[in-house]
Amino acid sequence: MPSKHTVKVKPNINGITSVDIKQKKNVTLIDTDNEIVFEFGGPWGVTAMMIGFPLLMFYLWGCLQFYRGKLVLPLEGELWSQIIKEAWPTWYATKIYLTFCLYELFLAYFMPGPIVKGAPVASLNGKKLDYLCNGVMSWYVTLITSYILHRYSYFRLTEIIDNLGPLMTVSIITGFTITFTVYIVTIIQGNQYRMSGNIVYDLFMGAALNPRLGRVDLKMFAEIRVPWVVLFYISVSAAVKEYEMFGYVSATMAFMVLAHFLYVNACAKGEECIPTTWDMTYEKFGFMLIFWNFAGVPFTYCLGTLYLHLSSIDNGRPIQHSPAWTFFCYALLISGYYIWDTANSQKNRFRMTLNGTYIPRSTFPQLPWGTLKNPSYIKTKQGNLILTGGWWGYARKIHYSADLMMAFSWGFICGFNTPIPYFYPAFFVFVLTHRVTRDMERCARKYGKDWDEYCRQVPYIFIPGVY
Ligand code: NDP
Repeated sequence: MPSKHTVKVKPNINGITSVDIKQKKNVTLIDTDNEIVFEFGGPWGVTAMMIGFPLLMFYLWGCLQFYRGKLVLPLEGELWSQIIKEAWPTWYATKIYLTFCLYELFLAYFMPGPIVKGAPVASLNGKKLDYLCNGVMSWYVTLITSYILHRYSYFRLTEIIDNLGPLMTVSIITGFTITFTVYIVTIIQGNQYRMSGNIVYDLFMGAALNPRLGRVDLKMFAEIRVPWVVLFYISVSAAVKEYEMFGYVSATMAFMVLAHFLYVNACAKGEECIPTTWDMTYEKFGFMLIFWNFAGVPFTYCLGTLYLHLSSIDNGRPIQHSPAWTFFCYALLISGYYIWDTANSQKNRFRMTLNGTYIPRSTFPQLPWGTLKNPSYIKTKQGNLILTGGWWGYARKIHYSADLMMAFSWGFICGFNTPIPYFYPAFFVFVLTHRVTRDMERCARKYGKDWDEYCRQVPYIFIPGVY
């Protein structure tokens, strides 16, 4: 049965209307999020993904590491024997990876930061959970710690790129271990939610909606404290290695460091916007989120960096492009970042304001047009407001397009000798297209005619005037 709550509307800052969800009458909040829909091809589809993802990660890494980016036949025997030999999980790699994860968990637990309320969770009778947002402080402390460790040779950052294969395997094992552990603990505690009854499917989608370790929300921790930080350090490691080998850092490698810095920094500086996102309120903490964040994101999104690194060793010098191409890649990255950052912050701050949880922050960098004053919006019968101002008046998923601009720039900076650095943008097109379909269907169910009106007012999805 859908749960019902009512909405009281009161004026707020920025001219936006704040909505408090209370258990009274008037407008109805329907728990559409409690519906079980088999996605990703159901149990067979997710089984294939749970087996296929790790194999794909090993395959792509092996093709780069041993065949200079040539896509060899997947059943090539030599390939797998080399992978087993070179990517075997060493004790050293285990120590590096787990120490890092535990240190980040420690920071997430103890660093100071604002506490932000999440969106009302329909399955919890509209309750808003508290999220400790100490991402910025943790990020800066991580940067300082890594500098000290490297500078005084306690841990040379070059060790990361030198041990990438074993580290990847350790991350894969960690992803599976956490998936099973969280699932079993959730079932024992009786905290499972929206279960399909098929154990494989439920392992993939997860059992727990908001698992916590004390005051640390594990889902938010996994989404932003591990994947992007590891990815950033893989690129930093490759850049330091390049500097040690050639005496300088090339524009191509510097690009990767900048690209990954921008992503991890954005997640940290805008962390207070995350508690109201779809992942926090709707997705459960299963293999899909756990594996992808602990292993998939850092160790497949870094393939461009690995390619640049291995090419510089093969060629005796770093890859360089014409100034025009290099400029184009940087321009694509920075313009994509600007749209992505401001579009996300416009919508999230708008939603936080109407949720009564907006807090002004001065975390670096605050970009112009990141917060809208008196934006236009549609007031839905369900109670939520749908933003139609700012970037959101141009296209319904403009932040996805901007994210894709960045993703393609990560590939373009590697040139066109091998398709492997394009795995991330290609995969990302698939992920975002799938996410759009899921999200549009969900919003259409949730908002009904109001969603139709929104689609009428903002007809384009990705590119204004085109599609
Ligand atoms: P969105 O930020 O698009 O959130 C979708 C939800 O936002 C909808 O379900 C709806 O929620 C609400 N919404 C949609 N349109 C509006 C509107 N006009 N006004 C107000 N609320 C609206 O989805 P994601 O969580 O997928 O993406 C967040 C960011 O993360 C994106 O920039 C994306 O590119 C990035 N991302 C990156 C990934 C990576 O691997 N690099 C992977 C996935 C995402 P409600 O039901 O509350 O109304």
